[in-house]
Amino acid sequence: MTIAIYPGSFDPITKGHIDILKSGAEIFEKVIIAVSYNINKQGFLPIETRLDLIKKSVIDIPNVEVDSFEGLTIEYAKKKNAKVLLRGLRTSFDFEYEMQLSQTNQALYNEIKTVFLITKPEYNFISSSSVREIIFNKGKIDEFVPQAVAKYLNSKYYGI
Ligand code: ADP
Repeated sequence: MTIAIYPGSFDPITKGHIDILKSGAEIFEKVIIAVSYNINKQGFLPIETRLDLIKKSVIDIPNVEVDSFEGLTIEYAKKKNAKVLLRGLRTSFDFEYEMQLSQTNQALYNEIKTVFLITKPEYNFISSSSVREIIFNKGKIDEFVPQAVAKYLNSKYYGI
C-alpha cells in the first residue's frame, strides 16, 4: 500500500488544497493530510481549529487521514511508513520553492519522493495567505474555502 503525506500549514485549508487532496486520494491508497506546526510560531488559527476544519472538509474522501506533526517532514514520513510527499503547484514561483524543498528532503532521506500535482485553473489564485488578508480587511471568503471553513470564519469574524 502506497501511503502519501500531504504536508502543509493549511492555515486555513482552502478549496485549492482540497482539489490536490482529492486527486492525490485517487492515485494513492492512503493520503495523510498533516498540519506541520512549530509551538514557538503562532499562526492565524490554532492547530486544533485547523485540524477540526480539515476533518469537516474531507469527510467525503474515504482514504484520507488527518494528523499533525512537529519537526522535519521526512521524520514524520518515516514514522508513518510513507514513501511519497504530495504537494500542489500553482505557479512557477511555487515550482522554484518546491523544487528546492523536494531536493532538500531527498538529500536528507533518499527513500522519499515528492509527487507534484498541478492545480485546476479555477483554484490557481487561491492561497491561505490571501484568505487571511481578505479576513483582515473584512471581505467575503466563501468562494475560496470549503463550506465548513467559511461557516467558522464568517461566524468568528463577522458574527454571521
Ligand atoms: P506550506 O506552508 O507548506 O507552503 P500550505 O498550506 O500553504 O503549506 O500549502 C500546502 C501545499 O498545498 C503546498 O504544496 C502548496 O503549494 C499547495 N497549495 C496551496 N494552495 C494551493 C492551491 N490553490 N492549489 C493547489 N495547491 C495549493
